[in-house]
Amino acid sequence: MPDQLIGSLVSTIIHFNSCSITVSIWSILIASILFGILLSGNYFFFNKFREARMRTHSQDCLKARKLYIRREKSTQRNEGQRKKSITLSSKWTRTISNSPKSTRKVESEVLSIAGSTYCQDEIVSVMASGSPLQERNLEERIDRPMTEEEFMLSMKKVIEFITDNYRNPEKFPVSPETRPNDIFNQLPQKAPENPEKFDLVWNDFHEIIMRGCIQWQHPRFHAFFPCGRSYPDILAETLISSLGTVGITWAANPAITELDASMVNWLGRALGIPETFLFRGLDTCQSEGGGWLADTASDAIFCAIMAARHCKVEEELSKMSELEEDENMTASNRHTSKKHDRRAEIISKLVAYGSFEHHSSFEKACKMACVCCHPVEVYEDDDWGMRREVVEEAMEEDVKRGLIPFYLHIALGTTSTASSDHLAELTPMKEKYGVWIHVDAAYAGSAWVVEKYRNNAGIEHADSININLHKFFLTSASVTPFWTRHQKKYKDFFRVDPAYLKKKNGGNDLRNWGVQLTRRFKALKVYMLLRVYGINGMRAYVERMIGMTEYMESLLIKLPNIRKFGQTNYGLFCVQYHEEGMSEEQVNATTSHLCEFINNSHKMFFTHSNVRGHDIIRVAVTLERSTKKDVEKSVDLFSQLVDEFKKKKADDGNFLKTESSSSSIDSLVNEEYTVIDDPSHSVAV
Ligand code: PLP
Repeated sequence: MPDQLIGSLVSTIIHFNSCSITVSIWSILIASILFGILLSGNYFFFNKFREARMRTHSQDCLKARKLYIRREKSTQRNEGQRKKSITLSSKWTRTISNSPKSTRKVESEVLSIAGSTYCQDEIVSVMASGSPLQERNLEERIDRPMTEEEFMLSMKKVIEFITDNYRNPEKFPVSPETRPNDIFNQLPQKAPENPEKFDLVWNDFHEIIMRGCIQWQHPRFHAFFPCGRSYPDILAETLISSLGTVGITWAANPAITELDASMVNWLGRALGIPETFLFRGLDTCQSEGGGWLADTASDAIFCAIMAARHCKVEEELSKMSELEEDENMTASNRHTSKKHDRRAEIISKLVAYGSFEHHSSFEKACKMACVCCHPVEVYEDDDWGMRREVVEEAMEEDVKRGLIPFYLHIALGTTSTASSDHLAELTPMKEKYGVWIHVDAAYAGSAWVVEKYRNNAGIEHADSININLHKFFLTSASVTPFWTRHQKKYKDFFRVDPAYLKKKNGGNDLRNWGVQLTRRFKALKVYMLLRVYGINGMRAYVERMIGMTEYMESLLIKLPNIRKFGQTNYGLFCVQYHEEGMSEEQVNATTSHLCEFINNSHKMFFTHSNVRGHDIIRVAVTLERSTKKDVEKSVDLFSQLVDEFKKKKADDGNFLKTESSSSSIDSLVNEEYTVIDDPSHSVAV
């Protein structure tokens, strides 16, 4: 056959040369047919060979599986039988490990398949049986408080509870009728001496703990913000606890550290964070941009303030050449140095700027950092967003007093109304006053997954950014990605190198990114969520939730005596109660009491807030699977409760005469913030 093939090819060439085109075409055709037959023959034999291999493979699987089942089941039989089947299965394992290399590869696969098939079978059979397990005596239970079988049966209960909670989110009342200390007083004064069966614990979980839980995942829960929950997040949480591992350093668990960095980039790109804030290049430590998954926005804000404080202090110290540190300076006498004294003096003059609408975590972080906090006014005309003129004026005044501006806090999505500061016009403050700009987009940042909600022009000029995934990103508390454009300067502040952590390995140790040493495997939650939902799944969720809130708003503001306050931002709107002829004070008092009245009904749940003297009720749709029907039900109920409230108000003149609320930052303004006359006394507020 090859001779014919070559012959025909030769003749093709000859004929081609003599320009006999017809003959050449015939020759090419014949040659191709012969070549095709040859190929398909090979393919047929190859398939036969593969089939034979597969058959052996699946037989091996069955064999392995049987042995595994027998071996594991025997743990419940007598010792003799157990040993026998272990010998049997290890003999088989030995046989395969002596096989030629290629079969060994197949066999290792077989073993893993057999193992997992076995686990699957066992879980299914243990879970399906639900039968009470063999009683174990106290010594055995102290020795091993929970066996694998007990765990599987308990987990079954937990899984059933979770899925039932998803299917019947209204099973428990949205808020319980508990009073302060009710739960504490139902619990024993101390933990049990001896192991208790999970059934008992489970019972008390329902009877005591669940009865004291506000159901954030209830369709009538319209308070705070959507609080993340999703199946992939639940799966990741289970795995995180099961792995029992922490990411102290890169070497302590490279997967925790590197998944963290990777998720900082994944999230950054999904939410449109500029590339300068992301890890770039192959070495995460060498990149100027980067970040970490902090726990809460409060942690992230505190870290940003501390890093900013450090940068400003170093900058001020570097202006003083006479303060070169003495070479003989040691850790024990450094606090007596000139530089140390000067550092304390600089810190006492540092001022951080924000607005009265900013979250209390900003104020708290300033307190912890021992720096002045200077909140500025915001106005209704600007949708309660901070403007450049007011900030500039405040900075100018403080500089004249000898103070040093060092940090500007900008909120994109404030807590009360989800309004945003005017970022683009505020960023020039960075150059003018040398301040570190931190963007707190705790709630709103998640909505940036949908491009049309990226109301963040100028973000590229910020120094750091934080977003809470545990608000609007289907992640349970708490995960807060933090990004900065100044990885080296930032980490400089947090780096402390004791011998037991110091070993250089080139890894991006998470310990240098903040206060904590021990790190949970939070990145796994993000990884699983983003893979199971995909960015499009997250976009669909955000759009749906914002759509539901807008639908609720369209119905709610049609109700008599309900008027909208401010704008609707990122799936949050606010309302007030008003009647013809009511003064603003009366509107405030009635709105505040209406919110309390509704919450005390335990049928719905809202948050009250106060924006520069205006009492409001915030409204958000929070349950991931909320439908239009759910929203309509909420609006009907709200309307009924408003009617009841009005009736009660009309019947009882004293009804509204309880104490009225006020925001904490307001109460502080007169006492502590405004007057910073004497710089030497202007330390922490
Ligand atoms: N920043 C803003 C704008 C917030 O709304 C909140 C919480 O509601 C926080 C910060 C604090 O978040 P965390 O509870 O994660 O510290």
